[in-house]
Amino acid sequence: MGCPMKFTMKPGETLMADEKELYDVIQSGDTARALDIIKNGCIRVDCLDENGATPLQQAAFKGNVELCRVLLDRGADVNSNEHEHAYTALMFGALSGQHHCVSVINNYLSIEDVERIIHPKGIDTKERIPMKFAKEIHQLVRSYNIHPVKIIKFLQANIELVEHRKPFVIVLEELFDLQMKQKETNEVMALKLWIIVFTIKEAFKFIDLKKSEGTKTPDDLLVLFAKQLLATDAEANFPKNLELLARQGIKAFPYHQSVLFQTLVKSVGQTEFGNEPSALSYLHQALLGQRMMMDETFCAACGEPAKKKRCAGCKAVNYCSAECQKLHWFSHKRWCATLAMKQDMMNEQWDVDESAKTEGADGSDAAETTQGPSVSSPATPVAAENEA
Ligand SMILES: [Zn+2]
Ligand SMILES: [Zn+2]
Repeated sequence: MGCPMKFTMKPGETLMADEKELYDVIQSGDTARALDIIKNGCIRVDCLDENGATPLQQAAFKGNVELCRVLLDRGADVNSNEHEHAYTALMFGALSGQHHCVSVINNYLSIEDVERIIHPKGIDTKERIPMKFAKEIHQLVRSYNIHPVKIIKFLQANIELVEHRKPFVIVLEELFDLQMKQKETNEVMALKLWIIVFTIKEAFKFIDLKKSEGTKTPDDLLVLFAKQLLATDAEANFPKNLELLARQGIKAFPYHQSVLFQTLVKSVGQTEFGNEPSALSYLHQALLGQRMMMDETFCAACGEPAKKKRCAGCKAVNYCSAECQKLHWFSHKRWCATLAMKQDMMNEQWDVDESAKTEGADGSDAAETTQGPSVSSPATPVAAENEA
């Protein structure tokens, strides 16, 4: 017997065996099995347990980000509220303090949305940009990290898009428009897409400008653009160009009646240029919520969550990858020693008994292993610092 090709079930209908097991394994935290059932089992993605909760709601309640993503990809209804207290998945996530899930649900956009815009007249007509980019663009727009360096890294990884720049920008702009013109406007999503388009246009402008000056490849120019954004001057450890870009991006947002926009403009306007919080951190707060900003550690170069790598010199900044650490070093080396001193003072204050404090010149010594996963630093910060 085949599997029913429907999504929902009415309250009171009974669960099928796979559905019952799915709830059990979501509950017990067996993600691998849950994924297997979603992929290969016979389930209605919006089935309801005895309290009227869907698998997405249960996954959000449990804080299982991966499951939330997969269920959303399978078309799970974000707005299902058959639950006895009429809770939606978002409310489940928020109530249980699962802010990661909340942001995944809030930032959801399906790959079909992207494909439809690449192919506005249907699959048999000419596509605006090669369809293979649908997946990459989908990944980009549903991440909550809109750090310009992350967006530049996306362009580097999809460098062919530089050739398709005009239609590519149109695709992004239409995705943006969709958020504000659909029945239920999604301001958070619109803001995010706006900053992405804005940054990408700036990157293309930069490439055009610099291309006339020399023979550098688009990839080299993108690295140059990223460095220009991350650069600080001698007076303050504050990347002014990055702040400028973020502020200009916010200012250019076209829907001035948006409450989110008005709140942002007010917050940024109250902060003097060059002071924290930066415009970018206000933006990320708007997308992620303040709570998660405090819980997470972010990459100093590209803003991705960064738990694993830390500068061995100062132990004050984190990176998502060795690549990002290398990219950032030209700027960070100016501040590494100062930050290390501050960090030492803080440690003394807290009277942390760590035999691990490194004063020595060897940044990659045993201290790192006691402090968690080792930092493999291609730039060997401390050594490089001496030559600076
Ligand atoms: Zn990074
Ligand atoms: Zn450092």
